Amino acid sequence: MPRIHALSQSLINKIAAGEVIERPASVVKELMENAVDAGATRIDVAVAAGGVDLVRVADNGCGIEADQLELAVASHATSKIQEADDLFRVGTLGFRGEALASIAEISRLVIRSRTAETSGGWQVEVAGGQSQGVAPCGCPVGTTVEVHNLFFNTPVRRKFLRSTQTELGHVSEAFTRIALAAPATHFTLQHNDRTLFELSASSGPLERIATFFGRDLADNLVWVESSDGAIRLSGYVALPTHSRSNNRMQYLFLNRRHIRDRSLQHALGEAYRGLLLTGRFPVAFLALEMPADLVDVNVHPTKLEVRFQDGGRLYSQVLSTLRTKFLSTNLTPHVAAPADEDPTGALDSGRAAEVRQELVDWAKGKVASWGALSSSSASELPAAPRPFGDAQERRPLELIRLDRPWNAADAAEEEPPAPWDLPDEQRASSMASAAATAGESFSTAGFPPSPALPGRPLQALQIHNRYLVAESQEGVVVIDQHALHERILYEHLRKRVLAGAVESQALLVPEPLDLAPAEAASVLEHRELLAKLGMKVEPFGGGTVLVSSYPAMLANISPGEVLRGLVDTLLSGAKLPDRRDMLDELLHMISCKAAIKAGDRLTPEEIAALLAERHLIDDAHHCPHGRPTALVFTREELDKQFKRI
Ligand code: ADP
Ligand code: MG
Repeated sequence: MPRIHALSQSLINKIAAGEVIERPASVVKELMENAVDAGATRIDVAVAAGGVDLVRVADNGCGIEADQLELAVASHATSKIQEADDLFRVGTLGFRGEALASIAEISRLVIRSRTAETSGGWQVEVAGGQSQGVAPCGCPVGTTVEVHNLFFNTPVRRKFLRSTQTELGHVSEAFTRIALAAPATHFTLQHNDRTLFELSASSGPLERIATFFGRDLADNLVWVESSDGAIRLSGYVALPTHSRSNNRMQYLFLNRRHIRDRSLQHALGEAYRGLLLTGRFPVAFLALEMPADLVDVNVHPTKLEVRFQDGGRLYSQVLSTLRTKFLSTNLTPHVAAPADEDPTGALDSGRAAEVRQELVDWAKGKVASWGALSSSSASELPAAPRPFGDAQERRPLELIRLDRPWNAADAAEEEPPAPWDLPDEQRASSMASAAATAGESFSTAGFPPSPALPGRPLQALQIHNRYLVAESQEGVVVIDQHALHERILYEHLRKRVLAGAVESQALLVPEPLDLAPAEAASVLEHRELLAKLGMKVEPFGGGTVLVSSYPAMLANISPGEVLRGLVDTLLSGAKLPDRRDMLDELLHMISCKAAIKAGDRLTPEEIAALLAERHLIDDAHHCPHGRPTALVFTREELDKQFKRI
């Protein structure tokens, strides 16, 4: 029979260490958190060999008394909580009393500390969990903790460590999170005696963001704030032009603690819906402050995740705060000149690689935008496939055919409630719907998109059969003809769908379409939704469905092709949270198919029609896929480029 026995304290500590200390960066995090909890105003972090050889964190906080030193490294010993109820009043970063004991078990740890009341300091050394005793030492007020040879007695853990470079990257990420959360504290980070970061106590959050992520990002952030009862949200979010290919640049802080929260990250993504291409993620630095009893921080060993009492309400707060802000902000990308200085010069390794990558992304973005003006790069782009004949045979632009042209009053009118609307309006998933219901915020608080010169209609020149170049009050606007038309059709169709008034065309002979069984099932399951879009489908046995009527605006494209597109959207959208999102996806797909393409030559009337519509669309900055519809080159910027100023 297997025998049950109690584990030794040393093994218990190693198990705890396994949870909390994954790599040198975990040590940096725990020691820095202790320093913040000790009330330090200055915290110096030094690491050697990516932190594997040494992590040293020195603070000028309250210090530890001599008779407490051995307790500090004992497991489950803490000065931060007393009783169970304290878990719901946690005002410190630490409270588990495990970090120092865990670290001491798997390294050689030295603590030197002195309180303001004593003239000399004391030190304790623990190697592999064995205390070498407490002895007097000379040191300033505060605490210095050194961790040597991490994982020296846990070879398996050691094997999992990555290159010095990678470990240093994690260390500087841990440093960044804490330094962003405590902007009034002076921080430094050294690696092998080189200073990577020096952040003075007076460098505000924006200054810190610029130091860590580059001036360009810091210059493209928007301040947001709101309060909901006792909960305050504030911080910076980046303009859509400064998105990333992953969500790592979404920094959330709860009561000065860095956290990860999938629901809030989802809210962030929703707030940018329609502003970003799929696969792009917004950048944000958001701080939440709330009474400690509204959140449980004791759900995760490294306290990275927390549990909110009312997560749904918080979700809505994040979403609506950002949406409201975006409605009053001009999001048209402005093209800026490159900075003269090289911000990578001041940085080393870990963060510098990221900074460089950002610079590359940024430069690519700029080349692409300026490319719109230069014939060589514009002609490199492959022309989009054309659904119908050549330019001569093309039917005139669909939007001229719209029987009820847009007008300004129309754009601001209230929408009829749609049956598939979510009960919680704040979760409305389309940027456009928010824009339509709060239409006036653009004209009062906001800036209309690149207004034409007063008294002059916006006139444009079509270049390369794909871009419209126009003079505006601000400077020069370059419009992507496909993206703008797509946006206009999307808005138009969306309004019609919500009002239940899509023009549909019955087919004299219903068109059969063969689909895979799963595809046919999905189409039939969404029959009602498709009918709202003007597309009637019926089962015809097996995988065949019959298309009997069809949206009029798609008269140029075969029903088969449209249904194909719809099927793809339905299947790939199966994971979308609700029907509203699905409808949105379908509207995007249809608008994209129906819109004029890059490569289509436009008549002057068509250009005028496009431009006329542009001013009536609330969110003309972006096509439904989130690509920009227009770029503005300000006159100021042009003057600068031509060295006039
Ligand atoms: P916790 O932070 O969860 O309490 P730790 O193991 O990290 O647990 O630390 C144990 C105790 O040691 C803390 O509660 C605190 O009293 C003391 N301590 C640790 N680091 C410092 C420091 N830098 N300055 C002052 N006290 C410290
Ligand atoms: Mg701690």
